[in-house]
Amino acid sequence: MTAILEVRGLTVKFGDFVAVRDVSFDLAPGSIHSIIGPNGAGKTTLFNALTGRVMPTAGSVTFAGRDITRLPMHRRTVLGIGRSFQVTSLFAAMTVRQSLALACQRKLGLGLLGILSRDRSLAPAAARADELLAFLGLGDVAERKSGELSHGQQRRLEIGLALAARPQVVFLDEPTAGMGIDDIDAVRRLIREIARTCTVVLIEHNMAIVMGISDTITVMFQGEVLVEGPPDAIRADRRVQMAYLGE
Ligand code: ADP
Repeated sequence: MTAILEVRGLTVKFGDFVAVRDVSFDLAPGSIHSIIGPNGAGKTTLFNALTGRVMPTAGSVTFAGRDITRLPMHRRTVLGIGRSFQVTSLFAAMTVRQSLALACQRKLGLGLLGILSRDRSLAPAAARADELLAFLGLGDVAERKSGELSHGQQRRLEIGLALAARPQVVFLDEPTAGMGIDDIDAVRRLIREIARTCTVVLIEHNMAIVMGISDTITVMFQGEVLVEGPPDAIRADRRVQMAYLGE
């Protein structure tokens, strides 16, 4: 199977410090691929390099056959790479529906003023926002300010913002962080549903979720890939157990 994303020899340095060293992996289309590892292992930096927030020092990232190594984040969004981002002050002051519509219009190339003035040309973004509200189970709170949602609802909205532009690959950064058991279950189901149409890359600390949901797991340790494989192999790997013992 041809990989949707090919990462080769990716290295990210901050000054002399190597946060990500020579990381390579392939992302199979339609798979759920988790990146795990102890704190400081380089997971977030790797995510940032793959989504265009941080420029790598060396190596390459190829998406659907195209070299995107040096493309900025917004160009990657247009190509089909989505990323969850926190409900910032901009989104917090808007309703849930407006937040989703704004995220949709980024791909559609419509302006912020247009979305706020409910211009008719925004119909495609509005339709996509409705679709996402239903998918996320946030229909009941569509007219509430995003900043007033419960923690679990806000995290679901963050996933929705990542999906707005109908990405082919979506990067979700700790989607269940700080959630109670019911919300975790809802997000687990949501991720499975997302993976029916989209490749999912997760940073996730909840091992029950990681082991239950992933097709492939990449374990990072001290900036490098320690091991990669299916959940059963990762669970049984002595090196992985050792890496976590130091935490
Ligand atoms: P993880 O997400 O696995 O916890 P990070 O990618 O956040 O790991 O961090 C990896 C290492 O890189 C850490 O030692 C962290 O202190 C360092 N680091 C991350 N971002 C920066 C930065 N902007 N400048 C300097 N060091 C950084």
